[in-house]
Amino acid sequence: MKKVYFITGSQDLYGEEVLLQVAEDSKVIAKYLDEKIDGVKIEYVSTVRDEASCVDACKVASNDPDCIAVITWMHTFSPAKMWIKGLQLLTKPLLHLHTQANEKLPYDEIDMDFMNLNQTAHGGREYGFMVTRLNVKREVIVGYYQHEDVIEAVKKFIDVARAVDFSKNLNVCMFGSNMREVSVTDGDRVESQIKYGWNVNYYGIGDLVALVNEVTEDELNAKMAEYSELYVMNTDNLDAVKEQAKYEIALDKFLTSGNFGAYTDTFQDLHGMRQLPGLATQRMMAKGIGFGAEGDYKTAALNAIFCEMAKGREGSTGFMEDYTYDFTKGEEVVLGAHMLEVSPNFASTQPKIEVHQLGIGGKEPPARLVFDGVCGDGVAVCMVDMGNRFRLICAAIELVKQPKEMPKLPVARIMWKLKPDHKTGAAAWIYAGGAHHTVVSTAITVEDVRLFAKLTDTELVVIDDKTDLVSLQRELEINDLLAKLK
Ligand code: MN
Repeated sequence: MKKVYFITGSQDLYGEEVLLQVAEDSKVIAKYLDEKIDGVKIEYVSTVRDEASCVDACKVASNDPDCIAVITWMHTFSPAKMWIKGLQLLTKPLLHLHTQANEKLPYDEIDMDFMNLNQTAHGGREYGFMVTRLNVKREVIVGYYQHEDVIEAVKKFIDVARAVDFSKNLNVCMFGSNMREVSVTDGDRVESQIKYGWNVNYYGIGDLVALVNEVTEDELNAKMAEYSELYVMNTDNLDAVKEQAKYEIALDKFLTSGNFGAYTDTFQDLHGMRQLPGLATQRMMAKGIGFGAEGDYKTAALNAIFCEMAKGREGSTGFMEDYTYDFTKGEEVVLGAHMLEVSPNFASTQPKIEVHQLGIGGKEPPARLVFDGVCGDGVAVCMVDMGNRFRLICAAIELVKQPKEMPKLPVARIMWKLKPDHKTGAAAWIYAGGAHHTVVSTAITVEDVRLFAKLTDTELVVIDDKTDLVSLQRELEINDLLAKLK
């Protein structure tokens, strides 16, 4: 299990008795959080009492591959020059928990001993200055550790920290390259690896075709039985469905053996395949594998990272594309879909397996899952390469029920409303250089994306109900200037 280290700040001046109490209280808080938060082990490591103990604690955290984050808490005052060397060595996401062992002040009993022991208001500021001075990216959470909102905030921090850790170890497989002439899906793969840890490499589609050709009759029958159980078989063309079943089996083997968390393909490079993977890719996305169409490795990686972040939460997360609009005044809505590849995580109706001609790519009609989409508040997020940096763009959206049936649309789809309104939301996205590919999620919030951007030191443009186009364009100008100064 992944671990979060809890490190407490204090100093030698108070004497052993106080330091024993500091350690005792730290254990209580770490244990309390550990019991409240699933999926990770939160453990008290040590109390920083001088530079050497700080360096030790930060080294232990940085060198432990299972450690995804560090929580620091100043129980007492902790002169922050002793934190410099340690913080310079720390490579894990940092949370400063500005809490106390006590919720209320004991007005009748409070004396100088109590104040000296319980002075996070004082020590947290001294420590906070140094973290700011060193420009270490961190989250600050304020409040009594047993309060529900504080626990929720710590939980969210840990989800994002786990996603950052996942990102650092993410392998992305590109079958083929980027779609010819397409700009926004392309990017600097070396910089992606330096900044986010994504190891993005190209493979010939023939490597996958070799596995497709090795699929056995037994494997195929088992997969078809699974489809029949989960979905409505709305086609007589079982041969086309079997072809996709083979692709799924082959993709599973290829991606598992290479330890890939995400992949891309492109309809321009399908040599040896009879169909563009549709149903097969939808199935992979349902398992939490990231996907980006047309060689879009950045969206594939983001898709996998947000699925990791969303683990244990309610909601749907997947690859998406802004396709077409309803421009009816006051009822504007975006129809999002893709040629085939929409994750069944978004399904609000039981998916149907259908086979239809695809007007692009010149292959046989591919099988795909068709369904209507879920509703609720969500985000649409993309990453673009600005040449000297990456930019994340995050729009708050509201997924809505499709106003009418679309009996002739042979592909899964979701619909959403933009914020603050359709015109402003769409214009803001375009001014920001936002892509047509996104990751849409009803499990992730703008705040999660904001924290991810902060911890990875990535520019973020948020489009929400507070967006106005004048300020947004000014913000983009300032961001450009800041990037040049860095
Ligand atoms: Mn596309």
